[in-house]
Amino acid sequence: MKIFWGILVFSIGAVWQTCGGGLWRTSMAGPSSKFVSTSSLSKIGRSPAQKALNQSQYAQARIQKISMENFGLIQIQPKPKRLFIHMRYADSTNFLHQPVYPNSCGCFVHPYALKLLDKALDILEKEYPDLGLLIWDCARPLSVQKQLWEKAEIPRTEKWKYLSHPERGSVHNFGLALDLTLADTSGRPLDMGTDFDHFGPEAQPVMEDILWKNGVLSEHVLNNRRLLRRIMRRAGFFPIPHEWWHFNAMSRRTASEKFSLIP
Ligand SMILES: [Zn+2]
Repeated sequence: MKIFWGILVFSIGAVWQTCGGGLWRTSMAGPSSKFVSTSSLSKIGRSPAQKALNQSQYAQARIQKISMENFGLIQIQPKPKRLFIHMRYADSTNFLHQPVYPNSCGCFVHPYALKLLDKALDILEKEYPDLGLLIWDCARPLSVQKQLWEKAEIPRTEKWKYLSHPERGSVHNFGLALDLTLADTSGRPLDMGTDFDHFGPEAQPVMEDILWKNGVLSEHVLNNRRLLRRIMRRAGFFPIPHEWWHFNAMSRRTASEKFSLIP
């Protein structure tokens, strides 16, 4: 039993470090059946080690969900042929080549961002039925923002273009920004010229015209990016100058005046 609680508490700590949330103190005060339902326990493996591991994984996912919900955030669910989710910081397909969220990490957003996202999906459904959205990042706790800032090997003079300083915070830290791209109805991303988290001028909307003239970005790529921006703008989102995949539902200033930062 001691081993189980050891693993469980360690896992809770890991969630605090990665997906964040306000549950740490509550869990330390009494990590109990509040987080692990009896029905879930009946489904777990039979060996004691497997049982403990499965219990801790279940608790991790549950706590992450509850803690994000404590901040009023809502988990986005994928929609067949229209909305796809691949949390790039939950596996190694990001610039750090390692996960910074637990692999169970879902996509959580502020209700206002969700409202705008629904508008974008409506536009796609009515006007671009062959297209969907593929989301790569959603609400991001400040603890993760710090990790990204510290670990990103980008010259300081360039870093601010791609990452907000944790002291200032990112709109992601309020659940009011989304990183996403256009996809076909099977979830395959359209060609945008670079991947997510490409830290170079090719990723920057402000550089697009020059890079097109120099033959670095094709007309096809530019059209895809413009279409994404058009749809997101119509839905109420704002693009930013240095990352084609990032969209804010409101400014960082407004977000910080109205809402709490996810720690
Ligand atoms: Zn972003």
